[in-house]
Amino acid sequence: MVIIEAKGLTKDYGNLRAVDHVDFQIKKGECFGFLGPNGAGKTTIMRMFYSLVVPTGGYIKIFGMDLNRHASYIKSRLGILPQDNNLDLELTTLKNLIVYARYFGISSSKSKRKAEELLEYVGLTEKAHVNIRNLSGGMQRALLLARALINDPEILILDEPTTGLDPHSRLNVWNKLNELKEKNTTLILTTHYMEEAERLCDRVAIMDRGKIVAIDTPENLMGIYGGNLEDVYLKLTGKKLKEENNVENNKS
Ligand code: ADP
Repeated sequence: MVIIEAKGLTKDYGNLRAVDHVDFQIKKGECFGFLGPNGAGKTTIMRMFYSLVVPTGGYIKIFGMDLNRHASYIKSRLGILPQDNNLDLELTTLKNLIVYARYFGISSSKSKRKAEELLEYVGLTEKAHVNIRNLSGGMQRALLLARALINDPEILILDEPTTGLDPHSRLNVWNKLNELKEKNTTLILTTHYMEEAERLCDRVAIMDRGKIVAIDTPENLMGIYGGNLEDVYLKLTGKKLKEENNVENNKS
Protein backbone atom coordinates (compact mmCIF):
# COMPACT_ATOMS: atom_id res chain seq x y z
CA MET A 1 0.00 0.00 0.00
CA VAL A 2 1.34 3.40 -0.98
CA ILE A 3 1.58 5.62 2.12
CA ILE A 4 3.39 8.60 0.57
CA GLU A 5 3.14 9.90 -2.96
CA ALA A 6 4.99 12.91 -4.38
CA LYS A 7 4.45 14.26 -7.88
CA GLY A 8 6.21 17.09 -9.65
CA LEU A 9 7.63 18.18 -6.30
CA THR A 10 9.59 21.38 -6.77
CA LYS A 11 11.14 23.99 -4.46
CA ASP A 12 12.72 27.24 -5.55
CA TYR A 13 14.71 29.52 -3.27
CA GLY A 14 14.78 32.66 -5.38
CA ASN A 15 16.61 31.66 -8.54
CA LEU A 16 17.90 28.45 -7.05
CA ARG A 17 15.87 25.30 -7.79
CA ALA A 18 16.61 23.10 -4.76
CA VAL A 19 14.14 20.36 -5.73
CA ASP A 20 13.26 19.90 -9.38
CA HIS A 21 10.08 18.04 -10.42
CA VAL A 22 10.62 14.99 -8.27
CA ASP A 23 8.24 11.99 -8.29
CA PHE A 24 8.28 9.06 -5.87
CA GLN A 25 6.03 6.67 -3.99
CA ILE A 26 6.80 5.08 -0.63
CA LYS A 27 5.03 1.95 0.59
CA LYS A 28 3.78 1.26 4.10
CA GLY A 29 6.43 -0.51 6.19
CA GLU A 30 9.19 0.29 3.73
CA CYS A 31 12.53 1.86 4.61
CA PHE A 32 13.23 4.43 1.92
CA GLY A 33 16.51 6.35 1.72
CA PHE A 34 17.44 9.59 -0.01
CA LEU A 35 21.12 9.61 -0.97
CA GLY A 36 23.14 12.28 -2.72
CA PRO A 37 25.88 14.86 -2.31
CA ASN A 38 25.49 18.01 -0.22
CA GLY A 39 23.08 20.43 -1.82
CA ALA A 40 21.22 17.70 -3.74
CA GLY A 41 17.90 18.68 -2.13
CA LYS A 42 17.47 15.84 0.39
CA THR A 43 16.88 17.96 3.49
CA THR A 44 14.50 20.22 1.60
CA ILE A 45 12.34 17.17 0.80
CA MET A 46 12.51 15.96 4.40
CA ARG A 47 11.41 19.39 5.60
CA MET A 48 8.50 19.31 3.16
CA PHE A 49 7.26 16.11 4.83
CA TYR A 50 6.77 17.96 8.09
CA SER A 51 5.57 21.18 6.46
CA LEU A 52 8.58 23.24 7.43
CA VAL A 53 9.14 23.95 3.74
CA VAL A 54 6.21 24.61 1.41
CA PRO A 55 6.66 23.29 -2.14
CA THR A 56 6.76 25.81 -4.97
CA GLY A 57 5.13 23.22 -7.23
CA GLY A 58 3.77 19.68 -7.20
CA TYR A 59 2.32 17.91 -4.20
CA ILE A 60 2.87 15.36 -1.46
CA LYS A 61 0.08 13.04 -0.38
CA ILE A 62 0.47 11.17 2.90
CA PHE A 63 -2.12 8.58 3.97
CA GLY A 64 -3.91 9.54 0.74
CA MET A 65 -4.37 13.14 1.93
CA ASP A 66 -2.91 16.29 0.49
CA LEU A 67 -0.21 17.46 2.89
CA ASN A 68 -0.99 21.12 2.29
CA ARG A 69 -4.59 20.75 3.33
CA HIS A 70 -4.23 18.29 6.22
CA ALA A 71 -0.84 19.27 7.64
CA SER A 72 -1.64 19.20 11.36
CA TYR A 73 -3.47 15.87 11.22
CA ILE A 74 -0.70 14.28 9.15
CA LYS A 75 1.98 15.69 11.46
CA SER A 76 0.28 14.07 14.44
CA ARG A 77 1.02 10.68 12.85
CA LEU A 78 4.67 11.42 11.94
CA GLY A 79 7.84 11.17 13.98
CA ILE A 80 10.72 13.45 13.13
CA LEU A 81 14.41 13.19 13.85
CA PRO A 82 15.87 16.42 12.47
CA GLN A 83 19.41 16.87 11.26
CA ASP A 84 20.11 19.56 13.85
CA ASN A 85 19.95 18.80 17.50
CA ASN A 86 17.03 20.93 18.68
CA LEU A 87 16.68 19.47 22.16
CA ASP A 88 15.92 21.88 24.99
CA LEU A 89 19.29 22.46 26.67
CA GLU A 90 17.69 23.80 29.84
CA LEU A 91 15.77 20.61 30.56
CA THR A 92 16.61 17.13 31.79
CA THR A 93 16.47 14.10 29.52
CA LEU A 94 13.07 13.03 30.84
CA LYS A 95 11.62 16.55 30.78
CA ASN A 96 12.61 16.95 27.13
CA LEU A 97 10.29 14.07 26.28
CA ILE A 98 7.46 15.14 28.56
CA VAL A 99 7.40 18.68 27.20
CA TYR A 100 7.47 17.40 23.61
CA ALA A 101 4.54 15.07 24.34
CA ARG A 102 2.37 18.12 25.08
CA TYR A 103 2.49 19.09 21.40
CA PHE A 104 0.56 15.91 20.69
CA GLY A 105 -1.98 16.49 23.42
CA ILE A 106 -0.74 13.52 25.43
CA SER A 107 -1.88 13.82 29.09
CA SER A 108 0.84 14.43 31.69
CA SER A 109 0.34 11.12 33.51
CA LYS A 110 0.51 9.20 30.23
CA SER A 111 3.44 11.21 28.89
CA LYS A 112 5.61 10.47 31.94
CA ARG A 113 4.98 6.75 31.59
CA LYS A 114 5.61 6.88 27.85
CA ALA A 115 8.76 8.98 28.32
CA GLU A 116 10.17 6.52 30.85
CA GLU A 117 9.37 3.63 28.53
CA LEU A 118 11.17 5.32 25.65
CA LEU A 119 14.23 6.16 27.76
CA GLU A 120 14.42 2.49 28.66
CA TYR A 121 14.06 1.59 24.98
CA VAL A 122 17.03 3.76 23.92
CA GLY A 123 19.11 2.89 27.01
CA LEU A 124 18.96 6.28 28.74
CA THR A 125 17.08 5.40 31.95
CA GLU A 126 20.12 6.18 34.10
CA LYS A 127 20.31 9.64 32.56
CA ALA A 128 16.63 10.51 33.04
CA HIS A 129 17.27 13.31 35.53
CA VAL A 130 20.48 14.64 34.06
CA ASN A 131 20.60 17.93 32.22
CA ILE A 132 21.05 17.10 28.57
CA ARG A 133 24.19 19.24 28.39
CA ASN A 134 25.80 16.33 30.22
CA LEU A 135 24.88 13.76 27.59
CA SER A 136 27.35 12.66 24.94
CA GLY A 137 26.59 13.33 21.25
CA GLY A 138 25.50 9.71 20.83
CA MET A 139 23.18 9.91 23.84
CA GLN A 140 21.61 13.13 22.56
CA ARG A 141 20.95 11.46 19.21
CA ALA A 142 19.36 8.50 21.04
CA LEU A 143 17.18 10.97 22.96
CA LEU A 144 16.12 12.61 19.69
CA LEU A 145 15.09 9.17 18.44
CA ALA A 146 13.11 8.54 21.63
CA ARG A 147 11.45 11.94 21.23
CA ALA A 148 10.50 11.14 17.63
CA LEU A 149 8.66 8.06 18.92
CA ILE A 150 6.58 9.81 21.61
CA ASN A 151 3.37 9.76 19.53
CA ASP A 152 3.82 6.16 18.23
CA PRO A 153 4.29 7.45 14.67
CA GLU A 154 3.38 5.37 11.64
CA ILE A 155 6.03 7.15 9.60
CA LEU A 156 9.42 8.10 10.95
CA ILE A 157 11.43 10.77 9.14
CA LEU A 158 15.14 10.65 9.88
CA ASP A 159 17.47 13.31 8.51
CA GLU A 160 20.98 11.86 8.84
CA PRO A 161 20.14 9.79 11.92
CA THR A 162 23.69 8.65 12.63
CA THR A 163 25.91 11.48 11.38
CA GLY A 164 28.72 12.14 13.83
CA LEU A 165 28.12 9.00 15.87
CA ASP A 166 30.84 6.54 16.85
CA PRO A 167 30.46 3.01 15.40
CA HIS A 168 28.94 1.62 18.61
CA SER A 169 26.22 4.30 18.87
CA ARG A 170 25.56 3.95 15.15
CA LEU A 171 24.99 0.23 15.55
CA ASN A 172 22.56 0.91 18.41
CA VAL A 173 20.53 3.25 16.21
CA TRP A 174 20.53 0.72 13.35
CA ASN A 175 19.24 -1.98 15.70
CA LYS A 176 16.43 0.30 16.90
CA LEU A 177 15.47 1.23 13.37
CA ASN A 178 15.40 -2.42 12.32
CA GLU A 179 13.12 -3.18 15.28
CA LEU A 180 10.78 -0.37 14.21
CA LYS A 181 10.77 -1.76 10.67
CA GLU A 182 9.74 -5.13 12.02
CA LYS A 183 6.77 -3.38 13.65
CA ASN A 184 5.79 -2.10 10.20
CA THR A 185 6.80 1.53 10.85
CA THR A 186 7.60 3.29 7.58
CA LEU A 187 11.10 4.79 7.70
CA ILE A 188 12.33 7.59 5.48
CA LEU A 189 15.91 8.63 5.91
CA THR A 190 18.75 10.59 4.41
CA THR A 191 22.28 9.39 4.88
CA HIS A 192 25.83 9.89 3.67
CA TYR A 193 26.75 6.38 4.76
CA MET A 194 26.33 3.81 2.04
CA GLU A 195 26.71 1.01 4.57
CA GLU A 196 23.73 2.47 6.45
CA ALA A 197 21.66 2.59 3.27
CA GLU A 198 22.59 -0.99 2.35
CA ARG A 199 21.77 -2.30 5.82
CA LEU A 200 18.50 -0.47 6.35
CA CYS A 201 16.92 0.63 3.10
CA ASP A 202 14.55 -1.47 1.00
CA ARG A 203 14.79 1.17 -1.73
CA VAL A 204 16.85 4.30 -2.26
CA ALA A 205 16.51 7.41 -4.39
CA ILE A 206 19.82 8.83 -5.50
CA MET A 207 19.56 12.60 -5.91
CA ASP A 208 21.76 15.09 -7.66
CA ARG A 209 21.11 18.79 -8.17
CA GLY A 210 17.47 18.64 -7.15
CA LYS A 211 16.55 15.62 -9.27
CA ILE A 212 16.19 11.91 -8.58
CA VAL A 213 18.68 10.23 -10.90
CA ALA A 214 17.84 6.65 -9.88
CA ILE A 215 15.30 4.95 -7.65
CA ASP A 216 15.43 1.23 -6.88
CA THR A 217 16.51 -1.40 -4.37
CA PRO A 218 20.22 -1.24 -3.46
CA GLU A 219 20.60 -4.78 -4.92
CA ASN A 220 19.10 -3.79 -8.28
CA LEU A 221 21.20 -0.63 -8.48
CA MET A 222 24.37 -2.60 -7.75
CA GLY A 223 23.30 -5.14 -10.38
CA ILE A 224 22.65 -2.47 -13.00
CA TYR A 225 25.64 -0.19 -12.37
CA GLY A 226 28.11 -2.69 -10.90
CA GLY A 227 30.17 -2.55 -7.72
CA ASN A 228 28.83 -1.64 -4.29
CA LEU A 229 26.42 1.18 -3.47
CA GLU A 230 29.28 3.63 -3.15
CA ASP A 231 30.39 2.81 -6.72
CA VAL A 232 26.79 3.29 -7.91
CA TYR A 233 26.66 6.65 -6.15
CA LEU A 234 29.93 7.73 -7.76
CA LYS A 235 28.77 6.66 -11.23
CA LEU A 236 25.45 8.47 -10.93
CA THR A 237 26.53 11.68 -9.26
CA GLY A 238 30.16 11.90 -10.38
CA LYS A 239 30.99 12.74 -6.77
CA LYS A 240 33.07 10.78 -4.31
CA LEU A 241 31.86 10.35 -0.75
CA LYS A 242 33.91 12.56 1.51
CA GLU A 243 36.64 11.18 3.74
CA GLU A 244 34.81 12.33 6.85
CA ASN A 245 31.87 10.11 5.91
CA ASN A 246 34.01 7.12 6.56
CA VAL A 247 32.49 5.36 9.57
CA GLU A 248 35.85 4.55 11.14
CA ASN A 249 36.93 8.20 11.12
CA ASN A 250 33.99 9.46 13.08
CA LYS A 251 33.97 10.48 16.71
CA SER A 252 30.80 10.95 18.69
P1 ADP B 1 21.02 18.37 0.93
O1 ADP B 1 20.17 18.06 2.12
O2 ADP B 1 20.92 17.35 -0.14
O3 ADP B 1 22.43 18.68 1.30
P2 ADP B 1 19.46 20.81 0.81
O4 ADP B 1 18.06 20.38 0.61
O5 ADP B 1 19.86 21.21 2.20
O6 ADP B 1 20.44 19.70 0.24
O7 ADP B 1 19.78 22.03 -0.14
C1 ADP B 1 19.47 22.06 -1.53
C2 ADP B 1 19.84 23.40 -2.08
O8 ADP B 1 18.95 24.39 -1.57
C3 ADP B 1 21.25 23.87 -1.72
O9 ADP B 1 21.80 24.56 -2.83
C4 ADP B 1 20.99 24.81 -0.55
O10 ADP B 1 22.01 25.79 -0.47
C5 ADP B 1 19.65 25.42 -0.91
N1 ADP B 1 18.87 25.81 0.27
C6 ADP B 1 18.43 24.98 1.24
N2 ADP B 1 17.72 25.65 2.16
C7 ADP B 1 17.69 26.95 1.76
C8 ADP B 1 17.10 28.15 2.27
N3 ADP B 1 16.38 28.15 3.39
N4 ADP B 1 17.29 29.30 1.56
C9 ADP B 1 18.00 29.29 0.42
N5 ADP B 1 18.58 28.20 -0.13
C10 ADP B 1 18.43 27.05 0.52
